[in-house]
Amino acid sequence: MNIFPIHALADNYIWMIEDTNSVVIVDPGEAAEVLSYIEVEKPSQIAILLTHKHDDHIGGVEEIIQAYPETNIYAPSEVPGFDDMTILEDGIQLDILGHTVTALLSAGHTAGHLAYIVDNQFLFSGDAMFSAGCGRVFTGDYQAAFDALETFSRLDDDIAVFAGHEYTLTNLKFAHSIFPENEVIAEALGQAEVLNAVNHPTYPSTIGREKIINIFMQAEDVTAFKDLRNLRDNF
Ligand SMILES: [Zn+2]
Repeated sequence: MNIFPIHALADNYIWMIEDTNSVVIVDPGEAAEVLSYIEVEKPSQIAILLTHKHDDHIGGVEEIIQAYPETNIYAPSEVPGFDDMTILEDGIQLDILGHTVTALLSAGHTAGHLAYIVDNQFLFSGDAMFSAGCGRVFTGDYQAAFDALETFSRLDDDIAVFAGHEYTLTNLKFAHSIFPENEVIAEALGQAEVLNAVNHPTYPSTIGREKIINIFMQAEDVTAFKDLRNLRDNF
């Protein structure tokens, strides 16, 4: 098994969970590179896993299923219906092309956002959590967004984290501006600068790493979280 990103749009990641004969595609915001991959690798089974309804995460789905109609789609109910779409809910565990996938409600960015734990080892956090950050709270439900980060913080430290965008450098610049004396954040910022300079993903992170560099995860309560998020929105 191999997990790798396809860069999409400005700063989206389409995560590809590749096995010998299958691929699970997480949040295909556009189709072109995914279709090129499929044409070359010819996986016999394809599934699509969606975290939330935003176009930059689902924009490529229609084209992929037109080319490969056998593709099964798994998504929260907020996603507009596609053919052969299985609706997932918080806590559901199911097998997708040989992988155990557990859905976790992680609302706030959108009302129905789901994150997924794959094979008890890999978290696909969509736009609910980024390395050193979290998604904008478009719903206005800061409690839900705060709860989502709490849910993630209760996961095992060694779970790898794959998110929907490459925002790590900006997130760490923001964190550093808030906590200039924090050496762990300063060091992480340096690492992100190096990776960014060569256009290399800052993912995977881990839950354990996020606990020490993600200041949103560290917020004491929802008020502190909301204050931080508002500052970040204007950063
Ligand atoms: Zn989004």
